[in-house]
Amino acid sequence: QRQLVWFRNDLRCADHRALYAASARGEVIALISPCYGQWREHGHGANKLDFWYRNAKALAAQLDALNIPVQVLEAERFDQVPEALVDRARALGCDALHFNDEYAVNERERDRRVAEACRAAGLEVHRHTDAVQFAPGELRTGKGEYYSVFTPFAKAWHRALEGSRLKPSPMPERQPAPTDVVNEDIPAPPRPATIDTALWPAGEEEAQARLSRFIRDRVRLYQRDRDFPAQAATSALSAYLAIGAISARQCLNAVLHHNNGHLADGDAGTSAWVNELVWREFYQHILVGYPQVCRHRPFRQEAQRIRWRDAPEELEAWRQGRTGYPLIDAAMRQLVETGWMHNRLRMVTAMFLTKHLLIDWREGEAFFLDHLVDGELGANNGGWQWAASTGTDAAPYFRLFNPTTQSRRFDPDGAFIASWLEGFEELDAKARHAPSAQQREACGYPAPIVDHRAARERALSTFAAAFKHH
Ligand code: FAD
Repeated sequence: QRQLVWFRNDLRCADHRALYAASARGEVIALISPCYGQWREHGHGANKLDFWYRNAKALAAQLDALNIPVQVLEAERFDQVPEALVDRARALGCDALHFNDEYAVNERERDRRVAEACRAAGLEVHRHTDAVQFAPGELRTGKGEYYSVFTPFAKAWHRALEGSRLKPSPMPERQPAPTDVVNEDIPAPPRPATIDTALWPAGEEEAQARLSRFIRDRVRLYQRDRDFPAQAATSALSAYLAIGAISARQCLNAVLHHNNGHLADGDAGTSAWVNELVWREFYQHILVGYPQVCRHRPFRQEAQRIRWRDAPEELEAWRQGRTGYPLIDAAMRQLVETGWMHNRLRMVTAMFLTKHLLIDWREGEAFFLDHLVDGELGANNGGWQWAASTGTDAAPYFRLFNPTTQSRRFDPDGAFIASWLEGFEELDAKARHAPSAQQREACGYPAPIVDHRAARERALSTFAAAFKHH
């Protein structure tokens, strides 16, 4: 029996539920289908698409080594996929289609249609839960609802997790080479990356090497160091997790191995890191339980009433890293130049845009997605709505980060700032957080575009008006 495995954002061979299940049933053919047009429409920028493409090529080489032929189905949009996929499966003489589920609204609709078309054509369909440990809907509150608050979700997640769920799927064995199917080339995305792609080498081997290094050298101190952007204290695995060059299960298994078989009650660093992986999963469940977040709508209904400012020049200053707040500006340059931003800084810059500038979180969400190499709807939307106080578990609107205080606290000697802002190396640590007018002039650095206190008052009254009945 011939099995077709459809790869999407699960670009690896090891611990791949669909690939393993298919290989246990018969001869495997791989199908890779770039949908650059639709992904672009969803907001993914050139860096993310290039990273997907490079990882798809790395995957193709690995599949080839297993004698699994790679077929390519290029579709501009998802709605072209069902028919083309069924035709291809038939032409290849496949009896069954396997894939790992994805959870955003359009992806689910595409998969529903594909499954329907396959069944109508007499093809078996096998869907697998792979990106998360629990399929959305498996964990629910006492009332039978999807969780909307993280802590009880995380508790339920830990409680329900039995050992077998984390059991990795073995790599498929090398099969005899089929004689009637040849490898096809994966087309490149329409635009090249805007960052130095050497920062993000492709492939599951690279992802595994990052994981091993992180677990060996960093995870114990993760809790202590994770908030300091000048340190490389986090795993830098997000891009690999987003396109599935590594699975969250592999990360959790590495923790188990390191921690005598425990996930939660190890050292503080390890528990904190596991918690982040649970956050990732939480946001995947939110996409299904509260699909309005996939449709550019706030999680909290009443947040529709917030009166965002239309301030194109300030938005542009934020995008370009010219707000006059050094930590914000250094962070925005890190994003644009590397395709990644440190988590603490994602929170600080997102809060600055939505609170100090009172600009709609959707503007920030889109700009992040356009530049991030790890751009992913669940975490990005979740993070933005958290910062804007419109989301699940959101920051209470009256708790605003003061960007200068955050700077002193998390970049105490200004090393991160100085590594991104021209001329700041010459300033002493204290001045790097809030340079004088004269120092700004010497560095060609702008004055603050808003005053913290006044901006804070404006945000408080705007949010209070929107949320007053709640
Ligand atoms: P580590 O600290 O090593 O964490 C391990 C993994 O856990 C990460 O790789 C990631 O997969 C997951 N993770 C960590 N923090 C979070 C979180 N808060 N929410 C969900 N998952 C998390 N993460 C993305 O993967 N893609 C995004 O598009 C994205 N956009 C964000 C936007 C905003 C406004 C905010 C506040 C956060 C966003 N995050 C996003 C979450 C987080 O900032 C990144 O996952 C993290 O910085 C990636 O670095 P790392 O791999 O070294 O993480």
